[in-house]
Amino acid sequence: MVSPTVELLKSEIPLEQESVVLPQDVTGLVLVDISNGFCTVGAGNLAPREPNSQISEMIKESEKLARLFCEKKRPIIGFLDSHHPDKPEEPYPPHCIAGTDEANLVPALRWLENEPNVTIRRKECFDGYLGSTEDDGSNVFVDWVKKNQIKGILVVGICTDICVLDFVCSTLSARNLGFLTPLKDVVVYSHGCATFDVPIQVAKNTKGALVHPQEFMHHVGLYMAKQRGAKIASEVSFDAPKKL
Ligand SMILES: [Zn+2]
Repeated sequence: MVSPTVELLKSEIPLEQESVVLPQDVTGLVLVDISNGFCTVGAGNLAPREPNSQISEMIKESEKLARLFCEKKRPIIGFLDSHHPDKPEEPYPPHCIAGTDEANLVPALRWLENEPNVTIRRKECFDGYLGSTEDDGSNVFVDWVKKNQIKGILVVGICTDICVLDFVCSTLSARNLGFLTPLKDVVVYSHGCATFDVPIQVAKNTKGALVHPQEFMHHVGLYMAKQRGAKIASEVSFDAPKKL
């Protein structure tokens, strides 16, 4: 149930979503942090404490899209938060420590590790774009776009207002600077994204917790992405492939 207050706040920043047709010959799929540490009940400090419908829907929609992209042999890149145990990521408690199951894809997506069209990038920061930077200055995400001549990306994952948003913001700035040619379109699929829930009553009783009402923050994340120039899709489909 969405509270009347949240409905009121959402009505102050209305968000128009669209039905987006993806050109299948030139589109890539980006999966952000769909790992146990953020999605599997009880898996860690930042995992849901109980089943959560927004997160379950995000996993279901992401799996559906991942299967479709694999069927069409289209490129997929999956970012996975993966932290060194001695380097905390403020303001969050330890999470997704490298080498633990928290830092792995959720069971519904684990099969992607063996697919030839899938690139997995472990990252040590919120932002999958910056987190794709290698020691020599090259960038795994930029190389993935260029190698596959990707003109549009479809973005799904968690959290809508944190890692998804940070990635979208960096990608759109990089695109605008000409770093990502031929990338043009960044589409965020709303039902393929989710965020976590810390209602104000819970935050008040938990030392150090930041209040984070799920439904509202998800909305804000999408709104902020749209402000940077992303398309927000409530529905996505592939067009017919071009005949060679
Ligand atoms: Zn992290």
